[in-house]
Amino acid sequence: MQFAQFASYLHDIETVSSRLAITEKLAKLFSELHTDELAVVPYLLQGRVAPAYRGLEFGMAEKSLLKAAAQAFGLDLPDVARHVRTTGDLGESVETLRRAFMSMEEKTLSIAHVYGELYRITQATGEGSQESKANILAFLFTQLDPLSCKYLCRIPLGQLRLGASDVTILDAVSWMLVGDKSLRSKIEKAYQVRPNLGYICAQVVKMGVDVVETISPQVGTPILMMKAERLSSGAEIIKKIGQCMVEPKYDGLRLQVHIQKYKVQGAEHKEQVPNDKKYSVEIYTRGLELVTHMYPDIVDAVEREVGCTNAIMEGEALGYDETTDTFLPFQQTIQRKRKHDVAEAAKRIPLRFMAFDLLYMNGESCLHKPLVERKAQLQSLIASDASTIRLSPHEQVTDPHRLEALFDQYIGEGLEGIMAKRPESVYKPGAREFSWVKLKRSYSSKVNDTVDCVVMGYDAGKGKRAAFGIGAVLVGVYEQSAQRYLTIAKIGTGMTDEEWKTLKANSEKRIAKSKPDEYTVAKEMECDVWVHPHIVLEVRSDEITQSKIHTSGWSLRFPRLERFRADKRPHDATTKDEIDTLAVSQKN
Ligand code: AMP
Repeated sequence: MQFAQFASYLHDIETVSSRLAITEKLAKLFSELHTDELAVVPYLLQGRVAPAYRGLEFGMAEKSLLKAAAQAFGLDLPDVARHVRTTGDLGESVETLRRAFMSMEEKTLSIAHVYGELYRITQATGEGSQESKANILAFLFTQLDPLSCKYLCRIPLGQLRLGASDVTILDAVSWMLVGDKSLRSKIEKAYQVRPNLGYICAQVVKMGVDVVETISPQVGTPILMMKAERLSSGAEIIKKIGQCMVEPKYDGLRLQVHIQKYKVQGAEHKEQVPNDKKYSVEIYTRGLELVTHMYPDIVDAVEREVGCTNAIMEGEALGYDETTDTFLPFQQTIQRKRKHDVAEAAKRIPLRFMAFDLLYMNGESCLHKPLVERKAQLQSLIASDASTIRLSPHEQVTDPHRLEALFDQYIGEGLEGIMAKRPESVYKPGAREFSWVKLKRSYSSKVNDTVDCVVMGYDAGKGKRAAFGIGAVLVGVYEQSAQRYLTIAKIGTGMTDEEWKTLKANSEKRIAKSKPDEYTVAKEMECDVWVHPHIVLEVRSDEITQSKIHTSGWSLRFPRLERFRADKRPHDATTKDEIDTLAVSQKN
């Protein structure tokens, strides 16, 4: 198709606003395109030359376009700028100016030709590139008709605004084939595996709609990521999905890592392989953004810690503090998502990549395989002594209490909660279903009141905390009738270095040789160091939930220190009766 004809379609589409009308007009346009054209037109309709995840940008500001117009029509830049101010639309100005220079001979340029030139613009980099980009456009302005010029200049400016979203384009393909949108969901399934619009559209038209059944993942094309539903208790989760695989829910950055071994066939090819690297690696975000350059440490770790011909794996990247052996909060991890000073940030905030799924390996799609199989394969991919790329732990659970205990454990480790996944579930790109269920602490922020707890003991810390000599601290409430202390939480995070030091100093004065008699503590909660009842901490939590492990019968979800209550004696701490009432009122 000639670009001029394409431009008149764009003009036609611009006159309508309902999605249905746009879909119909796009379908008509598609029906007149050659399949090769259909592979690129979806991108032109969106003001691009390739899928957004390729990161090919025009990098042209309005000023460069003004220059191109001035150059093409032999005008001064201020004159063009003034004209644009009067019309308020650069596209319209270029159209009018082109009309005024009708003496220039129009050429019949094809869509393919113009696309090729636009592609060249995205490839120009470095010194003088703004000029070469403007030159390319200027030359096109001199060759194309006025209407084509109008739409051409809107493409690099991202001002087409035709309402041609990915979904509308898929609707239009369905409309072209059967006159309605009924095939869209079928085509969309393929698009979710390979969100390369041009490729999908061209394939469907060339091979028929059943081709979508055969479309499988491709290393270097991000797959739409699967999402989770939410429930608010272990019991609800087990009731809904039965036996499940429970993993920690990390509060980091979801990344999809694409790995392809370089094919080194001979000396000649070897030169193209950078620094004798084994793998070409690409990293994508949940929004399908290519972010490889932000994570050089993950790229390096793939070299050392992964073994395959090719693979696509998914996981969560988190900042990691090697001295304390703990993950960093999201606010720190997110500092790794930056374009500049990447090396410095990587040094300051080293990452762990907690891999939890495998979508493709050694030339074979894993999407249709049950989760248990994908996990097993993922394990085979990662070296057992890997340090940056880790297999996320998982446990098969059928008992809601066990699920809650894991939730408490991970919250205690400063994580976000848990993910419970159906062991037999396949990976459904882009879907949000009950095959994955999240249980997060933030949904259960139901406790308005704080609880005053007595420090009963603590565990020796790891890493940096080992220097403090204190890690997690066991706290309890007081049962007046039996005059006993019953456990309610183990606090492992949320305290400043200063607070840890104070707690340690205060505890040291009250250390007990063995567990004090007035303590009732389950075996799982035994501490390295016991402390006589003396120190009272005011503790905030998200929820009070029933517990089989804590002897008060309750557990505080996501407990964190509000302040030291030096003014309170241990008998003044919150009592078991008060907790019972608090838990009931929270429920109501
Ligand atoms: P949502 O997008 O709200 O459905 O929540 C799912 C998000 O949790 C994912 O996008 C991941 O970034 C994150 N996440 C953390 N840990 C896991 C895990 N073990 N499995 C899957 N997603 C996880």
